[in-house]
Amino acid sequence: MTRVIVVGGGNAALCAAIAAREAGAEVALLERAPHALRGGNSRFTAGAMRVVYDGVDDLMTLMPDLSREERERSDFGIYTREQFFDDMANVTRYRCDPDLAEQLVNESLPTLQWMQSRGVRFLPLYHKQAFKVDGKFRFWGGLTIQAWGGGPGLVDSLTEAARRASVEIRYGARVTALLTDGDSVNGVVVRCAGVEEQIKADAVVLACGGFESNTEWRTRYLGPGWDLARVRGTRFNTGDGIRIAIDVGAASRGHWSGCHAVGWDMNAPAYGDLDVGDGFQKHSYPFGILVNADGERFVDEGADFRNLTYARYGAEVLHQPGQFAWQIFDAKVSDLLRDEYRIRQITKAEASSLEELALRLDGVDAEGFLTTVKDFNQAVDTSVPFDPTILDGRGTTGLQVPKSNWANPLDTPPFQAFGITCGITFTFGGLHVTPDSRVLSEEGDPIPGLFAAGELVGGLFYFNYPGGTGLTSGAVFGRTAGLGAAKA
Ligand SMILES: Cc1cc2nc3c(=O)[nH]c(=O)nc-3n(C[C@H](O)[C@H](O)[C@H](O)COP(=O)(O)OP(=O)(O)OC[C@H]3O[C@@H](n4cnc5c(N)ncnc54)[C@H](O)[C@@H]3O)c2cc1C
Repeated sequence: MTRVIVVGGGNAALCAAIAAREAGAEVALLERAPHALRGGNSRFTAGAMRVVYDGVDDLMTLMPDLSREERERSDFGIYTREQFFDDMANVTRYRCDPDLAEQLVNESLPTLQWMQSRGVRFLPLYHKQAFKVDGKFRFWGGLTIQAWGGGPGLVDSLTEAARRASVEIRYGARVTALLTDGDSVNGVVVRCAGVEEQIKADAVVLACGGFESNTEWRTRYLGPGWDLARVRGTRFNTGDGIRIAIDVGAASRGHWSGCHAVGWDMNAPAYGDLDVGDGFQKHSYPFGILVNADGERFVDEGADFRNLTYARYGAEVLHQPGQFAWQIFDAKVSDLLRDEYRIRQITKAEASSLEELALRLDGVDAEGFLTTVKDFNQAVDTSVPFDPTILDGRGTTGLQVPKSNWANPLDTPPFQAFGITCGITFTFGGLHVTPDSRVLSEEGDPIPGLFAAGELVGGLFYFNYPGGTGLTSGAVFGRTAGLGAAKA
């Protein structure tokens, strides 16, 4: 029987392990984290997954228990292959590898259907990706479903499926090197409770994350200032998989100086907190404005749908003086603010006048702030109707930093402000991988016995990222890697 080792314990690793086992291999999954902290970044997510669907019938294959009432009160629209492919091309400025993107797009629905049949339940993302219009929830931005129970639910159901399939799972098992025989990979070195062990295998799948939690690599590859970012998720993704593959001759690829980073609560801890999950994120900025320490705006908050801008705006915040910003909203949009604005662990200021608010924004020049708001309010074209479900074109005129959509004068008290800094999610640079998840050598040939999936795949994301693609990518390439490894 083929023996496969899967390195990692998140979504990509679990999908790889289940697929390899189902294809007849004997599978061991080695997760660096202890059991209590298992599941990688995948466990910190909301479980939102981007998937191609041609209307409600496709969605019913993923959510068979969707009630008639839910269907009647929801306008799910469609999300075509072309739309997903275009979103990948546009946000990455046409740099993403078209073959990897095609595999991702084409396999998104079949892979999620496979996950569903293995026990992952999905539900519509009502609270985050839909607004009520004329009595119906209208979905927007191509992101429609999430795993039941969010990231923790996803990891639990995949772990359960892996156990049912008799995958051997070891926690607290850090893989430190690959074993080779000539050109082929034939095992790993693993350190478990201080003991080093060699485990032989016919194939190894690396699914052990990027290097976002490695402060030194962040600074080395992303650049100065990135040492100061907070890490949104697991502390265990320190680039081990990338390093050990490069050590045996694998080629690096992709946007090594780029990453996914968002606006994240100013006082969030250095690494993610599983009790808060993704609650430290603050993603409703398209309906307000963002100001820095000088009280000045520095990005077009309404440049595009939130899930096509949020992943690059963290870097914009990092590059502001003091690495922080405040998001400002007035009462007209308070009911549009996402759930994460109502958690207990929040940096918030509130006031009944802008003058009062200006004094409560820690670290912000009050006069600069008041001038910014005055100029902004005068620049809004209020003749265009406000509609949060479309790119409504309600913008500003004459400002140095425009706001292109959803612009509203800040004129209705109470005013609310939320303090944010930069939270890094994952890094874009990684290994050179084929669409069938084989790792290529620097000579351009597949390294026999070596496969990779998830965050450590280079070449998919550059500059930016369409929300909900990380989990789908991990699942698609994880499953492909598992199937390939089982045949090795
Ligand atoms: C707060 C937050 C919210 C997010 N929300 C979403 C969302 O809603 N939708 C979405 O698509 N994406 C989201 N993402 C991105 C998403 O989490 C990642 O793209 C995806 O989970 C990556 O999956 P993965 O399996 O490659 O990595 P991970 O899930 O991070 O798993 C990597 C695993 O490798 C293990 N590991 C590391 N080194 C070693 C080693 N040497 N030996 C053995 N094991 C090792 C780690 O312990 C970890 O378990 C979010 C991320 C964060 C942090």
